[in-house]
Amino acid sequence: MIGVLGGTFDPIHFGHLRPALDCLEMLALDQVRMIPLNVAVHRAQPVATGAQRLAMLKAAIAGQPGLVADARELERPGQSYTYDTLLSIRAELAPEQPLCLLIGADAFAGFLRWHRPVEILKLAHLIVMQRPSQSSWLNSGLGALYARYGCNNANDLREQGAGRILFQDVTRLEISATQVRELIRSGRSPRYLLPDAVISMIESEQLYR
Ligand code: ATP
Repeated sequence: MIGVLGGTFDPIHFGHLRPALDCLEMLALDQVRMIPLNVAVHRAQPVATGAQRLAMLKAAIAGQPGLVADARELERPGQSYTYDTLLSIRAELAPEQPLCLLIGADAFAGFLRWHRPVEILKLAHLIVMQRPSQSSWLNSGLGALYARYGCNNANDLREQGAGRILFQDVTRLEISATQVRELIRSGRSPRYLLPDAVISMIESEQLYR
């Protein structure tokens, strides 16, 4: 079973890494592919280049079996739709092989505004990583989506290749890339929010000043 965690990763921080490792272990995934976006769809464009964000990601996961950097969105021109990414990964897998899209609860809150959300569920399961500042979604259309596709057992994910929604508790780390960039911009240290190897790269590239 393969997991996919897409993001801006501008920069990658422990709030991405620890939940990715939690999902890898708790859902017994074979790997989590971490995929930096190229052109953002619903948010401001990244500050660091794709090459810099990919290099920081690789440095952050070096030596951790199961966490894999995947550059397919950076290699694809135009807006980075998750649907297109899942389609290209799905093409490499057997139809019955489960594929799990990992997203933070904050990202799930806006899921119905994504490009082709229903089709995404046909390509992958949705693993919603519970994040500290979780917004209420039960009264929205997401409640109906969850009532239809929700499950609460990782074993249910293995019965079909796609189409279930699972809420997965992960280590709650109130860290955001915005906070990291703001600390650096104001001359403060981002240490202990992200790997030292990533901080070294940020310093040598003079990023986020
Ligand atoms: P920014 O502050 O620039 O908006 P971010 O820190 O939210 O960035 P992204 O790269 O946009 O990071 O996030 C990629 C994915 O990781 C999203 O699904 C997001 O919900 C999730 N995520 C980010 N930070 C955390 C965290 N601290 N805990 C759990 N999930 C997180």
